[in-house]
Amino acid sequence: MKKTAFNTVSQKTLAFSLAFTLAACPLASAGHVLAAPAAASADSVVAAQTHDQARVAYGIDARLDEKNMRIQGSETVTYRNTSKDTLRKIVFHTFADANRSKATQTSMFEQNNEEIQKENPQKKPEDFLGGIYIRSAAADGQSLVFSNSNQALTVELKQELKPGEAVTVEIGFEVKIPFGMQRLSYYKDIINGAHWFPVMSVYDENKHEWDNKPYSKTFETDYYDSSDFEVRINVPEDYQVLMPGTITTQADPKEPGRKVVTAVADNTREHVFFASPNYKVESVTRDGLTIEYYYFDNMPDKKKLVDEYIDTAFKAIQFFSEKYGKYPYPEFRIAESYVEGVAVEFARVIQMGQIRPNSDPAHDTTFVHEIAHQWFHALIGNDSEKESFLDEGFADFSMVYFAEKQGDELNGFKSIQIDDWSYLDKPIASNNTEAGGEANPVFYKKGRQAIYQLYRMVGEDKFDAFMKEYFKRYAHKNATISGLLHTIQDTLGEEARKEMDKALHDPQFALKPEYRLSEAEEAAYWREQFKTSYRSSLSQIPNLPAETMSRIMDKALQGEPLTIVMSDQAGSKAKKQQQTILTQLEGTLGIMGIPYEVISDRQTLKKKLEKELGTSNIIAIGSAKINGLIQALKPGIMQKSKAIGFDWKSRMNQTASSGAYVVKHPYNQNRLLLHFFWNGDALSDNAVEPFAEQMLKALNFSTDFYQYYVLNKTGQVATDKKIANPIAKFFGEE
Ligand SMILES: [Zn+2]
Repeated sequence: MKKTAFNTVSQKTLAFSLAFTLAACPLASAGHVLAAPAAASADSVVAAQTHDQARVAYGIDARLDEKNMRIQGSETVTYRNTSKDTLRKIVFHTFADANRSKATQTSMFEQNNEEIQKENPQKKPEDFLGGIYIRSAAADGQSLVFSNSNQALTVELKQELKPGEAVTVEIGFEVKIPFGMQRLSYYKDIINGAHWFPVMSVYDENKHEWDNKPYSKTFETDYYDSSDFEVRINVPEDYQVLMPGTITTQADPKEPGRKVVTAVADNTREHVFFASPNYKVESVTRDGLTIEYYYFDNMPDKKKLVDEYIDTAFKAIQFFSEKYGKYPYPEFRIAESYVEGVAVEFARVIQMGQIRPNSDPAHDTTFVHEIAHQWFHALIGNDSEKESFLDEGFADFSMVYFAEKQGDELNGFKSIQIDDWSYLDKPIASNNTEAGGEANPVFYKKGRQAIYQLYRMVGEDKFDAFMKEYFKRYAHKNATISGLLHTIQDTLGEEARKEMDKALHDPQFALKPEYRLSEAEEAAYWREQFKTSYRSSLSQIPNLPAETMSRIMDKALQGEPLTIVMSDQAGSKAKKQQQTILTQLEGTLGIMGIPYEVISDRQTLKKKLEKELGTSNIIAIGSAKINGLIQALKPGIMQKSKAIGFDWKSRMNQTASSGAYVVKHPYNQNRLLLHFFWNGDALSDNAVEPFAEQMLKALNFSTDFYQYYVLNKTGQVATDKKIANPIAKFFGEE
């Protein structure tokens, strides 16, 4: 899984936006700022699994009741006891029951659901809930005693199951699908079908116990044996159904207007479906692999973007196949859905959010991260409740490895080398409870750094050879950190194992200094990163007016000159305030690597007014009445202010107010003039801090595009004019 700010504004952008806030605003403590944007496993003893030796085989028949959003189902599950223990019961996960209460539903989609609730006021809180109701359990035609509680279904066997023996159990069930954005849910014209049938839990023969944990509130709990599936779903005939495996469709002979869609998927980690009457399917086959994108044809030129995504998928699958081990299945499918800010991996299938006009298929790192999960989750399984690093750390490293080899500078290894998470006092080898709300930095960011460190330590050839061996040992099985370390020991030697062991278990792990970027490389990296982010943020709105505050940063990042002009005749109090505000601004410009000049005396101003200032973007600070530049350009500024609906004259005469506006440079159509002003001699003491905060906010790429704002006496926004920035909501208020 991966949380994503926006398709083109990647996870990293989020990270550096934080760095921006953090460094530019010394008032906020590190922990506070970083916590703010609440918005990104036992050695198997199974012998080589071939088709007819899979430990678990499912035959599932289900009927989708799309009017009442229910699924009536029955499944025949054959379970082979490959442990050394004699078993008297078997246990299934019933994760659909996580939807029985809000208290057990994942917190990941909580915010989405709140928005959905606002859009759909007729929906009651209970509509967002669901669950699975077990109707029957039987073996050999005899019913069995069962109990379903806390997301685990326990079935008592009539006869004990000895090592090597198999049992076939039939289970009847009914599912209520919740409305909203859960893994199992319906919303608009889609049904998201994950966790909808009872799934065999993994038996731990060392502890002599079944895994009966409920699904994680904060993260993922997907830990399964690779199994054989044959799933038949009865749906209305106009539905398209996406599932993993080979799909065939037959009209329902008994019920006109309906059809049965069958998917056969052997040796597969899990089974899900996505269904919609509006899905279009784009299918491309190359070298025996078919990639299919199920998408909504709701935008001009969408097919072109879909084809570009499919192209990236081919490239990524080929890359990981060569580096780690061959993708073994004949098909791979992608589901477009309405999830926002998150994408989810399943076996042979990934779930993405909506494609947008500015989606960038060649650089969509989230997309590649989900594809990498085919190797780290779907093929090499792991207990993602206990050792999430094994899938998330490797998927995130692989995403970066791919970008690096594609020549994508910003998303390549530099993005790992620049990260510093040493302050975060949690080991990578944490379980979900221990990682808590910090799953992203712990499993993804620190995790991929530990893998990168290993890569640097041993070099690419040896690293690739180790990865191939790891894949060989654990494909279609479940890996553990201990198994990973064994593989490192066997392929890369004792020292490499020790280093990795330390990296994974030391709470203070930080990338070794010799593998980090130099200061100069870091500065260049940030500059490029900011340049790209401002560009992509500003390009999201077609015909966005020239006069927006953050555009002045974009122009400076693109290489246009920038001059800061202070009010030179300010009194001593105002002078001190101007200096405080200038320091904050300079901090931000410094981080972004933007060159600028500051003019604070009238003589220099006069000298430069004729020539240099006519070609520069300008930020003026202070009272209009004593700012030489504003006074000199006053008639032009008044004229240009009309274009943004800012009544300059009356605003400048309003007592005790302050704020900012941006206009076209009166001398130069292609330059901007941004004025951070206050009326009267100085700001009131308690307004300086909010004034500076609002200034930095208005200049950021991730906030709305401000044209002007006016603050009241205490520095709160009293009125403003701004154009909504679609990514702003992903960055949230502190
Ligand atoms: Zn992931």
